[in-house]
Amino acid sequence: MFENLQEKLQRAFKNLRGQGTVSEENISEALREIRLALLESDVNLNVTKDLIEHIREKALGQQVATALSPTEQVIKIIHGELVELLGRDTARFKFASQPPSVILMAGLQGSGKTTTTGKLAQWLKKGGHRPMLVSVDVYRPAAREQLAVVAKSIGTQLYTGNVGADEAGTPLVLRLAKEAKRDAANFGCDILLVDTAGRLGIDEELMGEMSELKKLLNPSEILFVADAMTGQDAVNSAKAFHDRLGITGVVLTKMDGDARGGAALSIRQVTGAPVKFIGTGEKPDAFEPFHPDRIVSRIMGMGDIATLLERAEEKLDRGKAEAFAKKALAGDGFSLEDFRDQLRQIKKLGSMQSILKMLPSVGPFQGLQQAAGQVDESQFTRVEAIINSMTAKERLNHEIISGSRRKRIAAGSGTSVQEVNNLLRQYAQMRKMFKGMGAGGGKMQRRLMSQ
Ligand code: GDP
Repeated sequence: MFENLQEKLQRAFKNLRGQGTVSEENISEALREIRLALLESDVNLNVTKDLIEHIREKALGQQVATALSPTEQVIKIIHGELVELLGRDTARFKFASQPPSVILMAGLQGSGKTTTTGKLAQWLKKGGHRPMLVSVDVYRPAAREQLAVVAKSIGTQLYTGNVGADEAGTPLVLRLAKEAKRDAANFGCDILLVDTAGRLGIDEELMGEMSELKKLLNPSEILFVADAMTGQDAVNSAKAFHDRLGITGVVLTKMDGDARGGAALSIRQVTGAPVKFIGTGEKPDAFEPFHPDRIVSRIMGMGDIATLLERAEEKLDRGKAEAFAKKALAGDGFSLEDFRDQLRQIKKLGSMQSILKMLPSVGPFQGLQQAAGQVDESQFTRVEAIINSMTAKERLNHEIISGSRRKRIAAGSGTSVQEVNNLLRQYAQMRKMFKGMGAGGGKMQRRLMSQ
């Protein structure tokens, strides 16, 4: 996400940092580079122009007497302006005062609408809601089936309804929608997510149908799902929908791809509707609320520790982590069994690449983000496979793993004896290091207590 933009901005900042003082000339030079970076990332031309002008005005008029260096001040201004551009605060999700709240999901075919409907339902479920799904795409039976599969996979209610042979088009759509809302209320579901028909392009018929659905259902949210990879097209279709229907927010999907990122930066300014969520992968949990300040931090190479910590809080078992630390520092050290447990925990946070990318690319973390591209994810799978091929006894006591056992483990895990040797060596080193820290800490503690 935003790799290209980030790289180019970093270059502009680096040049700026190389200057002792910030003059009008070197601000102009940096702004020229930033402008190019934004345009190349497919940020809308007018949005870019406005943004650059705002930054220029603020940067030239700034007070110099602060604790920050002039360069840091300019970078702070850019950060602030980008956050402003994205709408500053995280957009709130609205609910109706009287359940069920209806959420209309709109978007072009292939934008990721059905996938997103499932992701949103799962996100709501995690928040303690009881969502129901319904597809009113009566034009493509496969679309209704796809939503049924999604509903099943995340375990949510689905309204299918009966579709007679003599019915078609908008009247059928409206009947299904009306029944689904009633059904949601009957089942005690507080939210109804309506997956609407997607078209290849925006057409009158689709707009007319959406408008009737809006009138009938009085939705608390109309979310337009747009494919970030389509850049300016995503912005234009969101605008067309908003002008005609008044959407309440945009969900940008496929932000994990090599999206140039411009859509995310332009949408709010061009359409007036905020980005509320982003999709970052095909899996149901590759979905997050759009926090302008965090996104800007990511773009500016400052990482996104807040999201990483939140993910850790949600996915990791704190008790297990603490027990591991305690064991690792104590006299007996941690076993290969404990090590495998930890590996599994870390894997829950996502790929190593996605974790490294959330770290800042400056200061002590410099280089880690860049290294993310070179991480061999399969290495983790291989390590786990090797440990899986050991017997429980071996996992608890690595010292019994003789040469012949190593051969057996390598064969069982589809790896080589050399890889098994490497793992055992690294494990032994790590174990020693942890134990050393534990012993050192103990000594220090005793010394402090005797004083
Ligand atoms: P619809 O026609 O708009 O309902 O689109 P679908 O939900 O069927 O999605 C189209 C394709 O995009 C599917 O292959 C999805 O797996 C994929 N997709 C949806 N959201 C994302 C995302 O955030 N990231 C990635 N990489 N793929 C996505």
